Amino acid sequence: MATVQTVLGPIDGSELGVTLSHEHVLVSMGNDAKAYPWRFDWEATRANAIRELKEAKAGGVDSLIDLTTPDLGRDVRFIADVARESGVHVVVATGIWRDVPRSFWTRDLDEIADIFVREIEVGIEDTKIRAGAIKVANDMGGVSPEGERILRGAARALKRTGCPISTHHWAPEEVGRRQVEIFQEEGAPMDRICIGHSADSTDVGYLEELLEAGVWLSMDRYPGSAGRPNWEQRNATVKALIDRGWAHRLMLGHDYAPAAVLAGQPQPPTNQPTRYLFVSTVAVPALLAQGVPQETIDLMLRDVPRRFLTGEE
Ligand SMILES: [Zn+2]
Repeated sequence: MATVQTVLGPIDGSELGVTLSHEHVLVSMGNDAKAYPWRFDWEATRANAIRELKEAKAGGVDSLIDLTTPDLGRDVRFIADVARESGVHVVVATGIWRDVPRSFWTRDLDEIADIFVREIEVGIEDTKIRAGAIKVANDMGGVSPEGERILRGAARALKRTGCPISTHHWAPEEVGRRQVEIFQEEGAPMDRICIGHSADSTDVGYLEELLEAGVWLSMDRYPGSAGRPNWEQRNATVKALIDRGWAHRLMLGHDYAPAAVLAGQPQPPTNQPTRYLFVSTVAVPALLAQGVPQETIDLMLRDVPRRFLTGEE
């Protein structure tokens, strides 16, 4: 079996178990955590993240794909610490989110790929922690010129390493179409690419068009937020795609991050279940009640993420 790079080193794909497709362990926008460390209560932030991941593990989540990039405040040492304490396998990412650093605006596309490849093959920063996925992001208004450079660099890094790409996309404007187009122009293998935040659309026709291009879909951002589809609507879209025969291309997740606790602020409440468990405690039982078989749930929570991460059948 193929191996998967996690923040604590390579594991066999068979060890992944239930895997959430798009999550975060810590998000501290931009460079804030490193530039203004005094703003954060690091002990409380660490304790809270460990508590939530332990709770996720106890609730049946074995692994998660953490798609935090440098411009989202990626801190792989923090993630390694929390993964070790909680027992959850965490795959970390190279790539860039929406805040493309100025240095990437003119950098040669192959040099962008070089940076991603280094984080995939050698390690992130001065650690030996290797990225297991490449994150890219395009939001409202579509693919910006600098966003396009990241997509092309990511496609080239995928072609050189086989490391899969997972996107953030603004589904209401169907930005996934342009992402797919650019990846196709670069000759990237479409079966190594996942179009994320796809459950922000309820347009099954649009999502099916993406699937027909050969990509995976991350049906995440459960339970939804104001102005976006709620969890029942997300489930309805997932169910419609299952009914059309696409379960073998779908993964589920929340795009959740435990709170980064600010200094002098109250501790996050510990009496609410972690949102990492919303899919397995609310969304999945509802899908089962609607007649989706357990084996289809296992396909989306276990087999699809494993195939996506390893490239194996
Ligand atoms: Zn995210």
